[in-house]
This record gives sequence, structure tokens and C-alpha cells, in this order.
Amino acid sequence: MPLTPNQTLTLLNSLGHAPNKKLGQNFLIDGNIVRKSIELAEIVDQSPVVEIGPGLGTLSEAILATGADLYAVEKDTKLVAHLKDTLIKTHHNFDLIEMDCLKSPLGNCPHQAGSKPFKIVANLPYAVATPWLEMVLNTALPERMVLMLQKEAADRYSASPKTKNLGSISIFLQSAYEIHSCHNVSANCFFPKPKVDSTLIRLDKKETPVYYTSEVKAFIRRIFSQRRKQLFSLCKKDSFEGAEAWVETLIAKGTSSKVRAQEINLQSWQLLGHTQLDHPQNDHTNNDHTNNVSN
Ligand code: SAM
Repeated sequence: MPLTPNQTLTLLNSLGHAPNKKLGQNFLIDGNIVRKSIELAEIVDQSPVVEIGPGLGTLSEAILATGADLYAVEKDTKLVAHLKDTLIKTHHNFDLIEMDCLKSPLGNCPHQAGSKPFKIVANLPYAVATPWLEMVLNTALPERMVLMLQKEAADRYSASPKTKNLGSISIFLQSAYEIHSCHNVSANCFFPKPKVDSTLIRLDKKETPVYYTSEVKAFIRRIFSQRRKQLFSLCKKDSFEGAEAWVETLIAKGTSSKVRAQEINLQSWQLLGHTQLDHPQNDHTNNDHTNNVSN
């Protein structure tokens, strides 16, 4: 069961720790949200689960109770020390590294070809949610992600064409995942209360996920950074070699030459992508385990 606001405050005081805004430290204090996250994750016994920012361990404890092998990444030294004194002592299935999730997006979770499929369950530090998610997409694709996010980020991830929220991250994510926006979550479910709205979302890996090379991603980002300009003229000038051929294919398929980035559908972007059974590894994963604090 999560701690009440008073119990959380007492624990933080006993650790000599004040919640750090920059690290997005809004701790879960609502049992229903913890239960809902676990329910949505549908964790099968001993399957690998990644958690980003275990904090005081509220969500971690519930994940561990399912029998999952938990791989977590936490940046805050004091919170890591607390977890070492508590959950890590009592759970052999808890592997924690003290690190920035932007250096190690999946912690020590095995994700090479042939490893067990894994899931991610996390109440994310909102400031790093998008760059972290992009790194996950470049590293290895989890079967499912259950993520607590700032509502604004969830709206961008799930945005449809012809809406102002559509951006490059919407294309990258929707090409690989079905997004189910599940619950708006009240600020009362956290201590301290965040000033932004939160949403719990579930993302399921598509049967044939599409991914993009870093060159194509950079091209898509450039196009969205000039979203008011017509795609055709942007592609004529762009340094990406396949740009012109791509836009001409779209026009041959009936797209107007005056179209702008946010007006075209996912299938059109996916003509720039690739599919393959095993996602390519890249150099984002930090395999230096010297900060491993597991037992
Ligand atoms: N999981 C806990 C819960 O639900 O109560 C805490 C969630 S809190 C929203 C975010 C957590 O992420 C904090 O513990 C914070 O220290 C950690 N964190 C923030 N930035 C991080 C980063 N770049 N890498 C790893 N952990 C980070």
C-alpha cells in the first residue's frame, strides 16, 4: 500500500530529503493508481519489467509482488540509498542502478535478440519523458509500456494528423505502438501535488512495428520544425537523399503538392521506415554496470 501524504513527508524527513522539483519527484500516494498500473501491465510471473525512477519504492513494491524481475534506474543518490536499505534487502529479484535514465534507458534489463520480452511500468520524471522514450525506441522495443505522464506529453504522443499536437514523436511512437490513453489522474494522487495534469497510458507493441534510421528521424524533425511550410518545397531543399523521391511518391498517390507536415497520415510517414523482427541495437545503452547497487 502506498504511504499517505503525512507518512511520505515523515519518511522524507527521516531521510533528510526534500522532494526535488528538477527530478520530478511527485511520489504516488494513491493505492488505486498503483493497482491500476499493475493491472494494465498484465505482468506474467518472473517476466522482466523496467521501472524508471523508483523513488521511495511504492510502485516498485507492487511490481515485485507480481513475481516480476524488476530492473530499475534511479538518479537520486539518497533515494537509491533508501531502496538499498529496504526493498533491495528483501527482494532478490530487484536490480537497481544509480544512473540517469538518459544514459541507461533500460537499466540492466537484458534486451539482446533472444532475451525474454520485457515491459516497462513507470511514473516517469516528466522533464525527461520524451528524450527517454526516444532512446527506448532506438534501443529495444518493450512488449508493453504503462506510463504515468504529463497529460500534455500523452496528448502529443497520441495526436492524430491535422491536429496541432502532432509532431515527430507522435510519428515515431505510433509507428511502433498502439496507444491507449487510459486515465486522467488527479494531482491529489501524488505528494507533493504536481502543477500539471497527469495521464496513465498503455502502449502495446504493434505486430509489425516500423522504425526509422537516425537520418530519417532527423529529416522528420526538420520537416516538423517548419510545419507551416509546404512539404513539397521543404523536401526539394532538404539534405536527406530520399526526401524528393518520397514526396513525389506521395503526390503520385494523390496527395496535394501543397500539403503540410501535420496533414499527412501515418502510412505516408511509414514509407520512410523499416520493419524487422529484431530491433537494431545501437550505442545508446550504457553497459557500464559499475553503479549497480543490487544485492
Ligand atoms: N516511482 C516513484 C513513485 O511513483 O512514487 C517516484 C516517481 S517520481 C514522479 C520520478 C522519479 O524519477 C524520482 O524518484 C526521481 O528521482 C527519478 N528521476 C528523475 N530524473 C531521473 C533521471 N534522469 N534518471 C533516473 N531517474 C530519474
